[in-house]
Amino acid sequence: MEYITPYNLDELRVLTSKWGMPGYRALQIMGWIYKKFQTDFELMTDISKEERKFLKEKFLVHALEFQKEIPAEDSTKYLFKTKDGHTVETVLIRERDHLTLCVSSQIGCAVGCKFCATAIDGLVRNLKTEEIIDQFLQVQRRVMPQRIRNVVFMGMGEPLANYENVRKAVEIMVSPWGIDLSKRRVSISTSGLIAQIKRMSKDPILRDINLAVSINAPYEKLRETLMPISKTNGLLELIQTLKDYPYPKGRRIMLEYVLIKGINDTKECAVALGRLIGRHKNKFKVNLIPYNPDPDLPYERPQLAQVYEFQKILWSMGISTFVRLSKGISVFGACGQLRKREMV
Ligand code: SF4
Repeated sequence: MEYITPYNLDELRVLTSKWGMPGYRALQIMGWIYKKFQTDFELMTDISKEERKFLKEKFLVHALEFQKEIPAEDSTKYLFKTKDGHTVETVLIRERDHLTLCVSSQIGCAVGCKFCATAIDGLVRNLKTEEIIDQFLQVQRRVMPQRIRNVVFMGMGEPLANYENVRKAVEIMVSPWGIDLSKRRVSISTSGLIAQIKRMSKDPILRDINLAVSINAPYEKLRETLMPISKTNGLLELIQTLKDYPYPKGRRIMLEYVLIKGINDTKECAVALGRLIGRHKNKFKVNLIPYNPDPDLPYERPQLAQVYEFQKILWSMGISTFVRLSKGISVFGACGQLRKREMV
């Protein structure tokens, strides 16, 4: 038995024609799984009985086992178990008029940002395409008839360090034969892996989706202390790579900036960040995220007044700046806080 979800339409067509099925069968199967979210082959009623039986013996759809859901006021955290016994966390965020799903791309993370709870355990392994897609399918099936319209790769892990699996999952999410989300409603949030961002900029599947990059400090040295990855992916080169990123006019790259009390939340930092962006104001928007404290880490959340002061300085420099008061904080599902908390 193998999983059907890593296949794209062309690949599934090759298989179904090899098995002597009609040419339209692959699209029909995709429609059941990604449009109707029907994952039981037996219930795909416009496919012949023999073929349904054959498909059921050949393919699995769900790669994860549902464990439990933890509801909060504005979000729900879902815990899944992989076949090899690891916990995967996914968070559904309820916005005013739509649902956003925050998916994980790795178990743990090797990047090692000092303020991040996921980093504490290091990297266990990459999630496979079927494990990323199943986070969507399982949560979507649970919230029917509501539809998830946005996906952010902002859960556990560095998505660009798991490039191939993330790419395939995004292909399934944005293709007309797949889940068919708008490319503008899928976001990859990265710690700033320069080589992978360059690769993404030339990739027809990934280059038009939203790119969010964690900056977190306007100075090279400070960024290196918060994000050791910065030693090999330097801040200035990263910013230049983003300035060169071939987005169409009007699209902006999101610079994520987690504000940590007394570390990177000063007025000087705000001015320095503005200068870093310089004359490329139309290429970026800045997202300020007040740090979400974790009991195992020594960092603190700044006062909101400090956050708004930081925002005002960037505004005064003509930079589009938002404050994100993280949803999901009460279930430890906010950015950088998805971890195997159930198991510690
Ligand atoms: S913030 Fe993101 S990239 Fe950094 S350690 Fe945490 S999960 Fe990894």
